[in-house]
Amino acid sequence: MISDTNEIIEKVLIDEDSLNVRIKKLASQINDHYKDEDTLIMVAILKGSVMFMAELAKHIKLDINLEFMAVSSYDSGTISSGNVKILKDLDTDIKDKNVLLVEDIIDTGHTLLKLRNNLEKRDPKDIKIVTLLDKPERREVDIKPDWYGFKIPNEFVVGFGLDYDQKYRNLPYIGILKRSVYEG
Ligand code: 5GP
Ligand code: MG
Ligand code: MG
Repeated sequence: MISDTNEIIEKVLIDEDSLNVRIKKLASQINDHYKDEDTLIMVAILKGSVMFMAELAKHIKLDINLEFMAVSSYDSGTISSGNVKILKDLDTDIKDKNVLLVEDIIDTGHTLLKLRNNLEKRDPKDIKIVTLLDKPERREVDIKPDWYGFKIPNEFVVGFGLDYDQKYRNLPYIGILKRSVYEG
């Protein structure tokens, strides 16, 4: 059983209703943007983006292809401008296709920048980025989402796909994790 959420969550930052309302709004902006296109390849980065991808995709009015990628995370100290390590690649060719990268959160931006560079080498028609959460204060590289759900302060959050030590992804809201959880 999940531990008592009072002992894990400092504060609910974004509740379930606000998430759903905002995601519908994002979907309508994305629908507008691609209104003259027939198809879209939506690429979620495992595992944190799964809930966002599922909720967003329900409201997209194009023929979409749902794709998933897994990449290894380095800690920022070890990051150079090299390639990202891909643990699970796309199942489809993106040449001449519209690609929408679906992210849970952009923090330093290193992961997404490297991933975008990798995908650009495959000659897609276009790559855009949608992120549910953005922590702009933490950015270390120049990358901006085309659409974002919420800008959030520099706090560690969990829920709606986001984990701490692989846990709490199933919480239906975004909450700030209590420091006592990770500071022991
Ligand atoms: P970046 O390369 O932008 O620093 O890393 C982004 C990744 O770090 C996210 O996809 C996510 O896995 C993780 N991350 C960054 N901030 C948070 C946070 O507040 N909570 C959780 N659960 N993961 C985070
Ligand atoms: Mg992510
Ligand atoms: Mg994680």
